Amino acid sequence: MILISLVYDASLLLTDIPYFRPVETIISSSIEKAKSLLEQGQLVAIPTETVYGLAANALDRTAVIEIFNAKQRPSFDPLIVHIGNKSDVSLYARHIPANAQKLMDAFWPGPLTVVLPKQEIIPYEVTSDLATVGIRMPNHPFTLQLLQQLNFPLAAPSANPFGYISPTTPQHVFDQLQSKIPMILDGGSCEVGVESTIIGFEGELPVVYRLGGLTLEDIRNICGEIKVEINSSSDPKAPGMLKSHYAPQKPLHLLNNTNSDFQSDNSTAIIVFGDYNAKGNEQVFNLSINANYKEAAANLFSFLRMLDADSSVNQIYAFLLPEVDLGLAINDRLKRAAFKG
Ligand code: AMP
Ligand code: MG
Repeated sequence: MILISLVYDASLLLTDIPYFRPVETIISSSIEKAKSLLEQGQLVAIPTETVYGLAANALDRTAVIEIFNAKQRPSFDPLIVHIGNKSDVSLYARHIPANAQKLMDAFWPGPLTVVLPKQEIIPYEVTSDLATVGIRMPNHPFTLQLLQQLNFPLAAPSANPFGYISPTTPQHVFDQLQSKIPMILDGGSCEVGVESTIIGFEGELPVVYRLGGLTLEDIRNICGEIKVEINSSSDPKAPGMLKSHYAPQKPLHLLNNTNSDFQSDNSTAIIVFGDYNAKGNEQVFNLSINANYKEAAANLFSFLRMLDADSSVNQIYAFLLPEVDLGLAINDRLKRAAFKG
């Protein structure tokens, strides 16, 4: 009895370190509850139209550091700051190029992150010591309401362990972060399904750093000339653009029309887009039978997670999509997911 109580006391001491304390994770659609936890400096997973985010008060360095701990995210990878009103951008960014304003006016709330010079109030823990900050107004009714009720913005990367497939349902978040965070705000499945498009500015010239839910065509329609500078290095100075990312644990191999040879037995899963005739006994998963890019993006991460968890599947093959519309962002995710470092 005495021994048990000693062990118990020792574990209590350990739990005084927040990161080691297992907590019960609730899945709930109570915005009030989410608000109250965030006001206490705790982490809450939040729904957005792109993927689920792991949120904390962006102005509270201690809370922000907890995000990095829970995700095992390297500190060199900066977080995006989420706001609930367009006009709040000037509270957190020092300078707003006219083209940034045009893009925000056209696409916020939506899957667009703008990288701008930061105001002092944004802690360097959020930006990984960069003088710029990524800001976005997400398009999900619960999260917009939550942000509008809080008197601080939310720093939020995707709510998954670093490097794994991003979550697009509350269950995806629960599967990996249960007992690490107190709450997942349940806002259903994410409509867009890939992360935001990230755009910085060289003077007035928009520079796309990450392909995402907003297409290059959309951006060109508003700004005309743009530069696309997708970084695919594994250099830590190129945050978030690591070659290997969004990766399942099982081997993933990419195919295109000129290289479409694979083992067509029933332990092989193949991810396709549009018309497809099975070659043998492979298990076929169609991102969109009608070749609809939006539908394909919304299915991508769910399919990868499902196949990674399916014990009848030993290897995954995926066809790259045509390089237009959201096909570019989807191919970017597939290539990083398949990359073997
Ligand atoms: P996520 O993990 O999907 O929330 O994406 C966060 C990503 O946004 C990072 O990995 C970076 O690529 C990008 N990002 C955020 N802030 C900045 C910044 N100040 N400069 C450049 N990229 C940024
Ligand atoms: Mg991420």
